[in-house]
Amino acid sequence: HANRTNGIDKNVWVEFTQLAAAYSKVNLGQGFPDFAPPKFVQEAFCHALNEGPMMHQYTRAFGHVPLVKSLAKFFSRVIGHEIDPLEDILVTVGAYQALFSAFQALINEGDEVIIVEPFFDCYQPMVKMAGGQPVYIPLRPLSPGDGSVLSSGDWVLSPEELASKFTPRTKALVINTPNNPLGKVYKTEELQMIADLCIKHDVLVISDEVYEWLTYDGAKHVKIASLPGMWERTITIGSGGKTFSATGWKVGWAISSGHIIKHMKTIHQNTVYHCATPAQEAVARGFEREYEVFGTPESYFQQLPAMLHHKKNKLASLLKSVGLKPIMPEGGYFMTADFSSIKVDCDDPSSKDEAKDFRFVKWLIKEKGLATIPVSAFYSPEHGKEFDKYIRFCFVKEEATLDAAAEILKKWS
Ligand code: PMP
Ligand code: GLN
Repeated sequence: HANRTNGIDKNVWVEFTQLAAAYSKVNLGQGFPDFAPPKFVQEAFCHALNEGPMMHQYTRAFGHVPLVKSLAKFFSRVIGHEIDPLEDILVTVGAYQALFSAFQALINEGDEVIIVEPFFDCYQPMVKMAGGQPVYIPLRPLSPGDGSVLSSGDWVLSPEELASKFTPRTKALVINTPNNPLGKVYKTEELQMIADLCIKHDVLVISDEVYEWLTYDGAKHVKIASLPGMWERTITIGSGGKTFSATGWKVGWAISSGHIIKHMKTIHQNTVYHCATPAQEAVARGFEREYEVFGTPESYFQQLPAMLHHKKNKLASLLKSVGLKPIMPEGGYFMTADFSSIKVDCDDPSSKDEAKDFRFVKWLIKEKGLATIPVSAFYSPEHGKEFDKYIRFCFVKEEATLDAAAEILKKWS
C-alpha cells in the first residue's frame, strides 16, 4: 500500500455508522435529515430525469452550466462580488470533494495548514494526503462549568494563540462556520481578526460553509470572502445536500477567484471529471427558486432553520432533563453535550484503550440503542483528551425520532 494511507485508516463515520446500523433503534449520529427534501427540489429532480436524453449524459466537467449560472447569480448577491459562473466556480461531488480538491490544488509537501478545533474530521487526512502539515488551534470555552448554560458563542479563539500559529510555512487556514460539531457561528469581529492575520501572512482561507442557512436566535452567518481583501484568498465551500436536505445527491461546490479555481479544476479534470447531471440540474432549479423568494417566509432558507429552531430547543430540554449539559448551538444541526455528570459503567473490555467519549457512545449505542458521535473525533490526537467529555447529537430529525430518543433517555436516567 501507499504511505499516504498510513495513519488515516480509522474513520469515525465508518465505525459509528456501522455500529448504529447494527445496534441502534434511534440514530442521532451521522448528520442527515430523516425527512424528505422540499417538494420543489424533489419535483426539479423528477423533471430533470424526464427532460430528455441529454440529462442522462455527461455535462460540463467543471459544473453543469445551469448550476454554475444559478450559483453565480445567487452568491454574487450574497457575497457582494460579481462571480463569474465559468471561472470562479467548481462543482464537485459534495463538499467533501471540494475540500479534497482545494487541498490537492493548493498544498505542497511541508506546507502548514492551520485547522481550528473542533473540526470536521476529514480536514486532517486531506491535508496529510496532500503532503501538508496540520497545525491545530482549539476554540476554548469562556465560562467554566458552573451550571450556567453554555452557548457555542462562548467558544472562542485566542487572537494571541492564533497569531502564534503562523509561520513562514503557513499556506492555508481552514474554518467552518456554522461549525460542525459545536454550532458556533463566527461573528464579523472574529472573522476580521482571522482575515487580518491571513492577509498579513499571505495565507489562503478555506471556509467550509455547508450549514450557512442554519442559524438561530439572531446569529448571523457572515462569509469571510465578503470581508475587504478576502475574495482573492478565500475558497468558500458549499453543499447542495445540506442546503436542500438531500445529502444523497452529493452536489457540492467551491467558489473563489478564477486564479485559484483554475488549479482546483486541474485536480478535478484528472480525478472525477464529471458530477451527476440530473442532481446538478435539480440543485440549479432549487437556487433559481430560492433567488426569487430570498428573504421571504416562502424561502426554504428561512423555513428549514425555523423548523430546526424548535427541534434544537426540544433536544436541549430533553438532554438537560437527564443530566446532560448541552452547549446551545448558534447554527448547524448538531448539539454537543457534556456527559461528565452521568455515572455509568461503560467499560466494555474490548474498548479499554479508547477515549472516554468513544466508550460512552459505544455503550449508549449497544446498551441503550441510541446512536450519537464522540466529539474527540473532531480533535487532533494532541487535544482530544482535553475534550473527551462531550458527545454530539444530530437534531435534523422527525419529531417521532426525537420522541423515540426521549423515551430511551428518560428510561435510562
Ligand atoms: N463539511 C462539513 C462541515 C460537513 O458537516 C459535511 C458533511 N455534510 C461536509 C463538509 C461534506 O458535505 P457533503 O455531504 O456535501 O460532501
Ligand atoms: N457531515 C455529516 C456529519 O457530520 C456526515 C459525515 C459523513 O457521513 N462522513 O455527520
